Amino acid sequence: MAGAAVSTYIEDDSLATSTSKKRNAAKKERRPKRKICNFCADKQPDINYKDVTRLRKYISERGKILPRRISGNCAKHQRLLTVAVKRARVIAFLPFVAE
Ligand SMILES: [Zn+2]
Repeated sequence: MAGAAVSTYIEDDSLATSTSKKRNAAKKERRPKRKICNFCADKQPDINYKDVTRLRKYISERGKILPRRISGNCAKHQRLLTVAVKRARVIAFLPFVAE
């Protein structure tokens, strides 16, 4: 079920901003606009596992953690978020799986 059709372009923030012009329109290459990390925008030093309302936005219906390409988080914050969600699961703030 894993997305096999996902394009594997280089995930570099500096690259995405410079090449915004439509060039490979014929090749059907999808390059979504780089989203800004919500945690960077808020200037929060860390992501707390007790902040369930915030963490809920980054998990799917089934309780899975959203990938970076969807959530738009930066690598640093996605890492912190993953740890926070996992901690929240252990103390039953968030579900491991939701049916
Ligand atoms: Zn960030």
